[in-house]
Amino acid sequence: DVRLERQLREDETLLEKNILVTNIDKLLNWARGHSFWPVTFGLACCAIEMMATGGPRYDISRFGYEVFRASPRQADVMIVAGTCTRKMAPLLRRIYDQMPEPKWVIAMGSCANAGGPFVDSYSMMAGVDKIVPVDVYIPGCPPRPESLIYGLLQLQYKVSNPAKVRLMRHGK
Ligand code: SF4
Repeated sequence: DVRLERQLREDETLLEKNILVTNIDKLLNWARGHSFWPVTFGLACCAIEMMATGGPRYDISRFGYEVFRASPRQADVMIVAGTCTRKMAPLLRRIYDQMPEPKWVIAMGSCANAGGPFVDSYSMMAGVDKIVPVDVYIPGCPPRPESLIYGLLQLQYKVSNPAKVRLMRHGK
């Protein structure tokens, strides 16, 4: 209709003047996806690879993710790196609960994904998604730092494009 056409013409004029039009949600999601603050949370051997990812060779500060926090209250991503036992599970959940919203979880390695080599042990949680909602699963025993970086970039895509991710998941 006429109003829509006028609006489109105005938008085109703004673009010609190099004025970027967006909404605050898109801007916030873009910023969140490019500045994760992971909580320091290593459980077993996978954590060694997570530490290597933060070192100078792999350098996740290139992506804006190097600010590992010792306090869950200052973090927005939990990387569950390692073996989670039944005894540890309530503590993992408590740390997750202490993180402010919005927050995300990455399950790093076979143990965190589904129990890994210890899946038949009476003491193991066969998958941390039984305790916390997992956004990205990274396979491997252990996954290399490149895999963790890839997982973080997948999470970046998910956080920066919630509408596209919903569309892919539900097909509408
Ligand atoms: Fe260790 Fe493999 Fe389990 Fe990672 S997945 S914590 S490397 S046993």
